[in-house]
Amino acid sequence: MSKGILIVFSGPSGAGKDTILYDVLERDKTLQKSVSLTTREKREDETEGVDYYFTSLKEFKDKLDNGEILEYAQYGQNFYGTPKAPVDKWLNEGKTVILKIEVQGAANIKELYPESVSIFLLPPSIEELENRLRARETDSQEDILRRMTIAEDEFRRSVNYDYIVINNKVDEAVNDVLSIIRAEQLKSSRMKNYISEVTKNV
Ligand code: 5GP
Repeated sequence: MSKGILIVFSGPSGAGKDTILYDVLERDKTLQKSVSLTTREKREDETEGVDYYFTSLKEFKDKLDNGEILEYAQYGQNFYGTPKAPVDKWLNEGKTVILKIEVQGAANIKELYPESVSIFLLPPSIEELENRLRARETDSQEDILRRMTIAEDEFRRSVNYDYIVINNKVDEAVNDVLSIIRAEQLKSSRMKNYISEVTKNV
């Protein structure tokens, strides 16, 4: 069996990553989303084990010391990290795994897995991003400003990604992400095992 594909999905806070990803996962049930660990406080609309595993700083650091975290980053005042064991398992099973992570973690993943595929989701404009963050009403004023500053840096770093999707319309952005994933799955370089299997008895 071929090894699976690691898809890194990034974009500034408020670009619509969760909405897009929700629809992408609904439309392709073979995709596997990694659930990150975070030291951030749970928001009201979030579910433990679905959106994140919410942990204390001590627990996060212990897992880091034990090599249980594949990559991590500090974002604002909180830590976020990808649990290593499930990702390794899914990739060995040949699955396509999606990591929803920020730019520094994405750069680390490219080093660790050069064959990973990175997609950056952009909002239509920086003004629109600010409107969306304010409309969310879950973050404090200070948090919104911090997220806007990080977003400006992230915009600049989006050029390092393999693909950029603009979230003008949700349906179109979802189709774009699914098309990228499908095209990557069908790349001849990833289909070598399949080809040798098919031609084995010829
Ligand atoms: P939020 O607080 O809005 O849920 O997440 C803040 C940022 O952290 C987002 O850009 C999100 O994609 C990123 N993030 C979430 N989980 C991880 C992770 O495991 N690793 C890294 N590097 N970033 C993450």
